[in-house]
Amino acid sequence: MLKRIAVLTSGGDSPGMNAAIRAVVRVALHEGVETWGVSYGYSGLVGDWMVRLESRSVGDILQRGGTILGTARCDEFRTAEGRAHALDNLKRRNIDGLVVIGGDGSLTGARLLAAEGFPVVGLPGTIDNDLWGTDYTIGFDTTVNTVVDAINKLRDTASAHRRVIVVEVMGRQSGWIALTAGLAGGAEEILVPEVPADLGKTIAKLKRSCEAGKRYNIVVVAEGVSNTAELARRIEDETGMETRLSILGHIQRGGAPSVFDRILASSLAEKAVMALLAGGSNAMFGYQRGTVVPVNLDDVIRNRKELDAERFRLAHLLA
Ligand code: ADP
Repeated sequence: MLKRIAVLTSGGDSPGMNAAIRAVVRVALHEGVETWGVSYGYSGLVGDWMVRLESRSVGDILQRGGTILGTARCDEFRTAEGRAHALDNLKRRNIDGLVVIGGDGSLTGARLLAAEGFPVVGLPGTIDNDLWGTDYTIGFDTTVNTVVDAINKLRDTASAHRRVIVVEVMGRQSGWIALTAGLAGGAEEILVPEVPADLGKTIAKLKRSCEAGKRYNIVVVAEGVSNTAELARRIEDETGMETRLSILGHIQRGGAPSVFDRILASSLAEKAVMALLAGGSNAMFGYQRGTVVPVNLDDVIRNRKELDAERFRLAHLLA
């Protein structure tokens, strides 16, 4: 039976990471197990920055975005030597299990630690919703709600001025945020990295809609698709409609986590801790069709989550 576990958040922060930390600590305490919080992701494992977390240490954080532990990117952890330091630190503190909350890169690191013999479980913490093995990642729902709120506001001003507004959202390789917020926000066009953009066709469509008397158009673009400043200029030149670019940037990461993200984080964290305490390792806990399931970390890393083709079709049908 494990007596002492650690938890860390790593990579890009996402709303709901705090809800996950809180659940890890409280479930462990309920099972009579101590939790140590590691500061700044894998940097804190390598540098031995850890503090004991009590029930009260995680009070008043459920509703807060960001992560109380801090997060970071750590190149040292990519090396066998860096990970050996991390393992030494964990062993010296008599920590016998680790919960890693993060995205693809963080879970790749978690998988390596597990392969090197240390019990590790992962939680999908990323706004991008791009992890295989889970229908939703912790933070995605909050982020798309933030983006839809911005689209609603941009609509008001776009309509007043008869403009095209190009909204750049996060997603270098993944179009989940653009697609979901574009569908929910009623965007006229949605451009995602997974589907090669035919800008000529997009512009022709916008032009037709302007000529047919539509007062304004909203174009949602994932950042990985193209240079959005150039895209906006090209749309203005070729449609003759005044076009403005709005880059939402880091506001997409902040804010109070949605109800969905709080419950997702809490439910996944409970199962992850229970599995770790029962001797499990090398698994991420995900949410599939309404159920919390363990997914082998090898599969999470090896497979690529596809964009939802049905959602993509519907978004374009309704646009
Ligand atoms: P995310 O977890 O949000 O995808 P990153 O890709 O930046 O974020 O990864 C976060 C951290 O995870 C990296 O800074 C590094 O410490 C660790 N990591 C990422 N990829 C690897 C890898 N291939 N091997 C070991 N550690 C990794």
